[in-house]
Amino acid sequence: MSNSIEKKILQLIRPEIRALKAYHVPDATGLIKLDAMENPYSWPEAVRREWLDTLQQVALNRYPDPDARRLRERLRAALDVPPGMELMLGNGSDELIQIILMAVAKPGAVVLAPVPTFVMYDMIATFTGMKFAGVPLRPDFSLDLPALLKAIETHRPAVIFLAWPNNPTGNLFAREDVLRVIEQAPGLVVLDEAYHAFAGESFMDRLGRHDNLLVMRTLSKQGLAGLRLGALAGPRPWLEEFNKVRLPYNIGVLTQASAEFALAQLVLLDEQARQIRAERDRLFKSLNALKGVQAWPSRTNFILFRVEGDADRVFAGLRTHGVLIKNLNAAGGMLRNCLRVTVGMPEENDSFLKALEACL
Ligand code: PMP
Repeated sequence: MSNSIEKKILQLIRPEIRALKAYHVPDATGLIKLDAMENPYSWPEAVRREWLDTLQQVALNRYPDPDARRLRERLRAALDVPPGMELMLGNGSDELIQIILMAVAKPGAVVLAPVPTFVMYDMIATFTGMKFAGVPLRPDFSLDLPALLKAIETHRPAVIFLAWPNNPTGNLFAREDVLRVIEQAPGLVVLDEAYHAFAGESFMDRLGRHDNLLVMRTLSKQGLAGLRLGALAGPRPWLEEFNKVRLPYNIGVLTQASAEFALAQLVLLDEQARQIRAERDRLFKSLNALKGVQAWPSRTNFILFRVEGDADRVFAGLRTHGVLIKNLNAAGGMLRNCLRVTVGMPEENDSFLKALEACL
């Protein structure tokens, strides 16, 4: 039986899919969870109650509004989408990346991005049968503009993804470099602004000035990772095409109602983001004060740092001290001996710092 399944797998499953490893999410039970760029703060009890009251009115027997019209209107305002630009929603920005690539995928089509960057650009390129071309960042994690422009000429990419700020390096690429890429790109450029709440800068106001520019956001890093809601803003003609590929009811009724509710709590979410930014700056200083640690400045809610010696050992040591962060050492190259920590609550960050000191 298993033998025959294996034979069929060899016949049916594409080699590049067989070669992949499924996206791995480690079990964080009982650990201080600082691995996934989540917002550590929950809502005050009164807000939670009000939210649950709202959900009571949701009809679970009916399909959701397939276009999530009311939510999209509220998001347009919250995200400052320029007039005349369209907005599309996805089950997290991951789904939006998938939708874009499903719409453009054809034999030989290329997705290009600076590397290291968010892994899903590469993975979804593979899922959709596209080729991924990565252009290494400079050692200071800035864009290598000449190399990028050359790669654009060589590959003529259908889509370029720029995570702005970038994950896992945490920095914002220079605005003028990004503009050059947008101007030189023969295809689409997606500015992935997942960490916008912690960066403060955006290309949203450039929409409409470049026909090939799309801006992507997510509510995940702002305290709503469990909801799975991403938003793609851009010129209507592009989004009309992508909308054909989007599954009809991709945003469920509970997500629509909860996101609408959350958008009425922006003051609370913004205050949480402010606290996270302040904690990030404290954590950055504390990390760099440790002997044998080099941390890079961050415009996000996480910090990349390198340890002297063996990062795998430090990572494992942190786990035994009850702290889960992200180990990037296996990626090698620029990320050799690098670890990434998400900014948690002050007491979580203190526990992490204490554990790290013990493990170095
Ligand atoms: N873009 C970047 C740059 C990210 O780092 C992440 C999550 N780690 C995402 C997109 C995915 O976000 P979502 O939860 O909206 O799918």
